[in-house]
Amino acid sequence: MIICRTIEEFRAERANLHGEIGFVPTMGALHKGHLSLVQAAWSENAHTVASIFVNPSQFNDPQDLAKYPRQEKRDLVMLETEGVSLVFIPPADLMYPTDFQTSINVEKVSQGLEGAHRPGHFRGVATVVAKLFNIVQPTRAYFGQKDAQQVAVIRQMVSDLNFPIEIKTCPTQREADGLALSSRNANLSAPERRAASILFKALNAAQTAYQAGERHPKILRDTIEIVLGGEKLAHPDYISVADYETLEELEDSLTRPALLSLAVVIGETRLIDNMLVG
Ligand code: AMP
Repeated sequence: MIICRTIEEFRAERANLHGEIGFVPTMGALHKGHLSLVQAAWSENAHTVASIFVNPSQFNDPQDLAKYPRQEKRDLVMLETEGVSLVFIPPADLMYPTDFQTSINVEKVSQGLEGAHRPGHFRGVATVVAKLFNIVQPTRAYFGQKDAQQVAVIRQMVSDLNFPIEIKTCPTQREADGLALSSRNANLSAPERRAASILFKALNAAQTAYQAGERHPKILRDTIEIVLGGEKLAHPDYISVADYETLEELEDSLTRPALLSLAVVIGETRLIDNMLVG
């Protein structure tokens, strides 16, 4: 596995890779969720390329950036074990030199959910992913359903800006108690970690109600809220039932698939999760 820390170095190594390239962008602190994307990339491409870059421009909260877990050595061992050919780990000042001036704003689909609660987040995500796509030039890029709005934003950007890249969405990987794997889970204390399973339980309760025939978004949101209310360490940021494509919040009875999603603060850690229904 070749590790590149500059764009020039990366481009030189990339030129030696022939055939289809699967790309997995990450912020490191890797877990089985990331590795499932690497495995998907492996199964569909001649080479797998990963990036590790904790992108400052997508953090709206400086404290969140400061305490974001970093474990590069361990990450590199994991990527090598999974058969990754090339890893790109740029320093922040290479990606954002002092005269950096351009950003990408995907208008509508960035507005609700995470976008409404994390100003500038998706501008940072779209901009860094566009830069990485230009540097890596993959055939396919792999993203997790765990960050459903992120995938929607990237798909829109790729379509609007004509990137010749196929976007693949991979299922959310979970712990045994249902908690979605996330690098931020490392910041939870033991009691907080136990409490965190409430996100999955709440989504599951709404999905069960949906399967029993409930179609009213307000009742589905209330179902999630009631379950979360049973865990005093959990403080909901938002609870949403939105159109699965446009991500617009729904008020009328569901006639199309919908995305149930939520953000919950536990201690000082903000966790997100979602489930599709219909
Ligand atoms: P991150 O390092 O958090 O930026 O995540 C890198 C990629 O891994 C993104 O496409 C995420 O959606 C994906 N990812 C993170 N957690 C999971 C998970 N539990 N299951 C599947 N994919 C995930």
